[in-house]
Order: sequence, then C-alpha cells, then structure tokens
Amino acid sequence: MTECSPIDFNGAAIASTRRGVCPALDAPMQTGDGLLVRLRPLDSRLTPAAFVTIAETAARHGNGLMEVTARGNLQVRGLTPASAPLFSAEILAMDMPLATGLAIETPPLAGLDPEEIIDARPLADVLRARVVLEEPALSLAAKLSITVDGGGRFSLKNVSADIRLTALPDNTWQIALAGDDHTAKPVARLPADAAVDAVMALLRALSAMGRRARGRDLDAGEWRSRFGFEENGQGGREHSVPSPAGLHLWDGFSALGLALPFCQIEAAALIAFIRETEALGCHEIRLAPDHGFFLIGIAPAQLAAARDAAAARGFVVDPQEPANHIALCAGARGCASAFFDTHALARTLIAAAPALLDGSLTLHVSGCPKGCAHPAPTPLTLTAAPTGYALVVNGSASGSPEAYIAAKDVTHAIARLAALVGTARRAGETAAGCLQRLGRDAIREAVRQDRE
Ligand code: SF4
Repeated sequence: MTECSPIDFNGAAIASTRRGVCPALDAPMQTGDGLLVRLRPLDSRLTPAAFVTIAETAARHGNGLMEVTARGNLQVRGLTPASAPLFSAEILAMDMPLATGLAIETPPLAGLDPEEIIDARPLADVLRARVVLEEPALSLAAKLSITVDGGGRFSLKNVSADIRLTALPDNTWQIALAGDDHTAKPVARLPADAAVDAVMALLRALSAMGRRARGRDLDAGEWRSRFGFEENGQGGREHSVPSPAGLHLWDGFSALGLALPFCQIEAAALIAFIRETEALGCHEIRLAPDHGFFLIGIAPAQLAAARDAAAARGFVVDPQEPANHIALCAGARGCASAFFDTHALARTLIAAAPALLDGSLTLHVSGCPKGCAHPAPTPLTLTAAPTGYALVVNGSASGSPEAYIAAKDVTHAIARLAALVGTARRAGETAAGCLQRLGRDAIREAVRQDRE
C-alpha cells in the first residue's frame, strides 16, 4: 500500500501516515485518488451475484474502477468521506463472509486444484478460531499475514508472508518465516495440530514485541532450536506459479482464469461480463493473486465462449499479454494528483516497446511519486512529473531517478530501451535478466540518446 491515512467515520482523518495500516471497510485509506477500501472475501470466494453487487456499489460510491491486488484482494478506489460509510454499510448488508483481522490466506483454488496436497481451508479455519479465542488478545502488526498453502498448480509460492504454513507430501506442514517460498526461512516441520500450536507461539512472540513486529523480526535460528527443526539442505525450491489468465482444463477440473488489464477494470465492464458468465453456468468466483480471478462452473465446451466474452470486455485472457506486465494507477483520468494520463502512455508503450514486456518484469507507470499501483520496487518505473517522467531503475515511484524524460519523448525513449534489449539479449535471456546485465549506465544512456 501507499502511505495512507486511515479515516475515522465519525470524524476527521486520523493523524497517521505510517505504512502498515490496512484499508479495511471500517478504516478506508486516503490516497491521491480518494479513499481506498480493500475487501477480503473469506477463502477468496464470491458468488457471481455478490461480485456484481460489490461492483455496483463501488460504481455508485467510488470512481468506478475495481482492482484485484497482487495478493488477490478486491480494492475499490475513489471513495469520499461521505460515500465511504455508505459503501461500507451496503457491503456489510450483503452478509457476505469477509475475512477480517489477521490475514490468513489460502490458495485461490483450495479444495478444487487437482494437484494440491491438501485443502488448506480447514487448517486456516482452525487457525482463525485460535487467533480469535486467544486470551489475552494478540496485538499484531496490521499488515501481518499468514499463508496456509496446501500446494497445487496455483499455490501461494510466490506470495510473501510473515509466517508460511506449507503442506508437505508426508502430511506434515512446514513453517517458515518472512518471505515467499523461495526466500522464507524454515523453522519447523510438524503435523497439523502441532503446526497450529507452533504458529500460535510465533504470534504470541510477535504480539509481545509490539504492533510493528513482523515475521522478519523473529530469530529463525532460535525458533528452529525451539521446534527441534533441522534443515535438510533442500534449498533452491522451484517456485513458478502460472498467471491465472487462460483456460484451465486438467484432471477433470476446468475453469476460466482472467487477469485485470493494468490490474483494474471498469465496474460496468465487470458487471456485464459476470452476468454473461452466469448464463454460461458460472456459479463461483475465486479471487487470485497476480490481479486475477477464476470463474468456476462453466462447462468445458463453453469456456472458449466465456474467454472470448472476457476479451471483448477488456480482460486479460492470455498470460503473455503485455498488459499483464504493466502496473499503473488511475492517472489523470481518475486522480487529481496525476500529472499525465498513465493509461494512454501504457497503451502506447505496449505497441512501442514489446521487447520489455516479455513477462519477466513489471513496468510501473505512476501518475505521481506516490506510486499507488505498485508501492514495492520494480525493475523499471516511470513516474510522472509536471513536464515529463522520471525513470527509476529497481526502485519505487518515489525512488531516485536515473533520468528525466520529457513527456513528448517518453515513448521513443522507452522504445529505444526496448530496442537495446532486443539486440543485446542473449539466447534464453529475459528482458529483466538482460537489463540487469546491462546495468544502470546502459539504461540511462539508451533513454537519453533520444534527446539527441
Ligand atoms: S496519480 Fe496515481 S500514484 Fe499519484 S496519487 Fe493518484 S493514483 Fe496515486
């Protein structure tokens, strides 16, 4: 999230701009394009009717843009101090199961994925209940998260968490601290009941450390000793998880997966499309990491028709689509803080710089230095300024720029950088790998040549 101020519904903005506050229904966040609310449907599940109602409510009270975040949560933007309480009240009136409090996340296709080791949801439920019943109540960082990953094709390997519970083929659970599947530090391997007890011990320790403590603040070595865990040296685990976008048919399972273009979609397009898919048999939506969702229940013979309908509404239906690899905010069309139309630039860059958008990196186009669309660093960020764009390499929108590019030159400058990647790339090398090898000086030189 961007630096945001939670708003008190009964009064003025709470005087806080610190990171680490989550924009829940009862605590929307101030961003450059109004108030933002994030919703976490329990187990990432929604009925089509609920999805439509949320979109209609968002269109009525927000700026009409719906987002699915990198973790698979729903986001509504452009609310105002007057409309946010109305939005909240109408969503709560739906009586839809929403996950609140500590984020305990399961894979998007939990219980459906033919390749999963176990359905992670029952263990996640036990954990939620234990957290709620804990006495004295835990005092945890607002952004603290736990993943309970039963495996499968669409596992949570790429999703970072403070505490990770990962199912192993021998019916035990590995517990790891701070990171994604590749980077987190394993501290225990235990049967389910003992794993829940172990996670509660970790949460108590975090609670005792204060409301800013995160998984990275726990001493992994100390907890390994405490849990009697010895690493078996199985490092370098493969952790590629496909984009949700595409037709998914395997082992008797079928679903249509979609990603949102530039991570967001007009509520009107979403509503129209969901209604079309209901007619094709869709009875459940599963929100997914990587800005997407799955449609469940459509007969295999109808999936192609549903995919074509999605494409016609502007959804990303192919994981290779370049729009899948650009993060951008509302820009001038939805935010008073924006210096330029980020969407117009993104569309131009897709045509002008395809070599950069091979899926190996995210290009972030931000309407201002707040970087709402992608607070974390990306290999390339274009941050709009009054007369042009700052190019930040391996940084966030507010990072130190390598170059400033006049607005009229930016497409040519990035096209020149893409051409450099196209010619310098070695066999099998990705755009991200090539840029990393070329280094900042070559990147700076490529975009600056355009001025001559
Ligand atoms: S221009 Fe973009 S990054 Fe800046 S405040 Fe608005 S939405 Fe956020």
